[in-house]
Amino acid sequence: MRRIVMALAALALGASTLAACGGDDSASDLATRAKESKKIKVGIKFDQTALGVKKPDGTVEGFDVDVAKYVAGKLGVPESGIEWIETISANREPFIQQGQVDMVVATYSILPERKEKVTFAGPYIVAHQDIMVRGDDASITKVEDLKDKRICQASGSNSYKRITDPPPNGRDIPAKLVPAGSYSECIAKLSGNTLDAVTTDDLILAGFASQGGDFKILGTPFTDEKYGIGIKKGDVATCEAINTALSEMYSDGTATQLLQKWFGTAKGLQLPTAVPPAEGCS
Ligand code: GLU
Repeated sequence: MRRIVMALAALALGASTLAACGGDDSASDLATRAKESKKIKVGIKFDQTALGVKKPDGTVEGFDVDVAKYVAGKLGVPESGIEWIETISANREPFIQQGQVDMVVATYSILPERKEKVTFAGPYIVAHQDIMVRGDDASITKVEDLKDKRICQASGSNSYKRITDPPPNGRDIPAKLVPAGSYSECIAKLSGNTLDAVTTDDLILAGFASQGGDFKILGTPFTDEKYGIGIKKGDVATCEAINTALSEMYSDGTATQLLQKWFGTAKGLQLPTAVPPAEGCS
């Protein structure tokens, strides 16, 4: 009897070792897979100046892109091993859940309802929601002035909800929502006069404002948007590895250099010098 039990135990051990060595992706966490394969699929925005942009020559650039490169490097993946995939606000959670991307670095606020679906490392920076209007519009000077104004409703984004949702998420301001697929579409509608204001994170607005156009940012920040790195729900080991990388990004001076590079000339932005307190991986 004892011999049979021992034989069975040996078999079970062999099977689990085999599973660990096999190529079953879902068996290991992202950090382990990335280290072994030297590859990672990263979701970024393709249309947000200074954060995530795909250029006509096919290369990508921006603060989120550089953060992703740094984190990937710390996970053992060289730049050449990164596959860049466009994520718009509306498909960030499904792309992570379905495995189209391994991680999302795309102006992605850590929110309780999103935490139900994905795990967030970070935050790596805290942005603040602000308002951008046409240069000649004097009728909007503060968030309350958005009452009855046409604001952009970028699909899957939280920003419009910060205005129209009841507290605590929003301010219960009855603005008119004009749907758009992305923030670049919002900006086009603002200049085309089919809406009155684009309200979203100051970092996003700063990027668009730097492209020119007759716009002004009000400089009245009214939320904290903790930008996290989204990964598959429950991958705590990878989340912790990313958090370690993010604090190194600040302690070795990279973060300051990157913030200067991408936002150094933007007016009125308060850039951090230390890594924001981690949220905890769950
Ligand atoms: N940070 C906000 C969010 O994640 C607005 C920007 C965006 O949608 O990417 O909803």
